[in-house]
Amino acid sequence: MVAGLVVLGMLMLFVFVRPQQPGSLTSADAAQAMLDFRDNMPSGSTAERIGQVTSGAAAADVLEVLGASATDAASAVSALRQTGLVDRKRMRPGTALTAYFDESAMDGETSRLIAVSIKPNAKNTLLATRQADDSFFVSVLTARLVTSHRRAAGIIETDLQTALVAGGGTPAHAASLAALFPDDTVLATGGEPGDRFDTVFEVAEDERGNFIENGDLVFAAFNGETSSGSWYRYTPVDTGRTEFFDANGVAAQPFLTRYPIGRVAINSGFGQRYHPLTGQLHLHTGIDFRAPAGTPIQVAGDGIVEFMGFSEGYGRHIRVRHKRGYETLYAHMSGFAGVALGQMAKAGDVIGYVGDSGSATGQHLHYEIRRDGRWVNPMTLELPSGRNLASDPAELAAFMKQKGEIDVLRGATEGVALATASTFLPVIQPNSP
Ligand SMILES: [Zn+2]
Repeated sequence: MVAGLVVLGMLMLFVFVRPQQPGSLTSADAAQAMLDFRDNMPSGSTAERIGQVTSGAAAADVLEVLGASATDAASAVSALRQTGLVDRKRMRPGTALTAYFDESAMDGETSRLIAVSIKPNAKNTLLATRQADDSFFVSVLTARLVTSHRRAAGIIETDLQTALVAGGGTPAHAASLAALFPDDTVLATGGEPGDRFDTVFEVAEDERGNFIENGDLVFAAFNGETSSGSWYRYTPVDTGRTEFFDANGVAAQPFLTRYPIGRVAINSGFGQRYHPLTGQLHLHTGIDFRAPAGTPIQVAGDGIVEFMGFSEGYGRHIRVRHKRGYETLYAHMSGFAGVALGQMAKAGDVIGYVGDSGSATGQHLHYEIRRDGRWVNPMTLELPSGRNLASDPAELAAFMKQKGEIDVLRGATEGVALATASTFLPVIQPNSP
């Protein structure tokens, strides 16, 4: 009879938490489902015990301390882990865990574990319930999040990061703002006292308006000694590629090209490759463009020639330092042209010619891009598009509408959470069949 009631309780529960259309279950519904779950548990024989997961005690240990058998504890925790949300490293110390036991089914010192609920983070509540076959089924209840906006603006007293964090922003916001002014070397190191900044960024809140986390910048302006300007984040409908545009709807100009000898055929792409000479698997650190010896190579962007010379691998090669921490390298050249070490090269200047010097199997240009000293794939690298939205009236109108909304936010009180937009996450993500 008791077992029958428990099973009935489980069935009632699944009516509430089985997968539904995203958005059809609010977190209030989820809370109701939890209440219904408790209501449907056989009273008199059900015990609810609360423990805490700490850095010294994992969830399974806590369940055992609360009275679960080692087998039940391991089984419930393993099911919870499969969500990817219960992980000792990521869980806040002190995270509460509630265990439900059927006291009528005692087995020596242990009671029968029938359910476990845990809230590993502000967004999610997990509920593991025992099935007829003694395995545990986990439902993930996700709070419905509301995207709000916050503005942080002011005058730098020490550095940009300190000022932004004081205004509720993050170090990442400071880095994103500085990246929008790549020519400003002073801003790159924090700016100067007296420089003005203005930012609007997204903030995720739950339905009660509780802060969950900071999101990305949607607006950034800077007015300093060496640079000034305003940038609005926008995602064009046609490309779906989010970037920042100025007040007229013009994106930053690309400062590097992916194609220093034009759009010629590619012999070998970036990534893991079997080396043509050694047969060994290695990281191919650039792109090999196929072209006959003597094809002129144009420098990918404005920069300083940092290296010009010969090495066994790259052969005759040039390395150029650009802004934003980027470098480009051109290898296996047959000769150099019109450049000198330490000299400025302008985008499009011919710096040399395709060849097969160094360890090359044939005539080609090996082209590398490095960002902060690390190789990146020139083909997938995110570069500003230089796009002018004015060439598409519908796109420009959509941008101007969004810009207007951001400007309204900027007109509101500094440092206060502002008007809300509706961005909802699916509320249920079941993880087991
Ligand atoms: Zn190569």
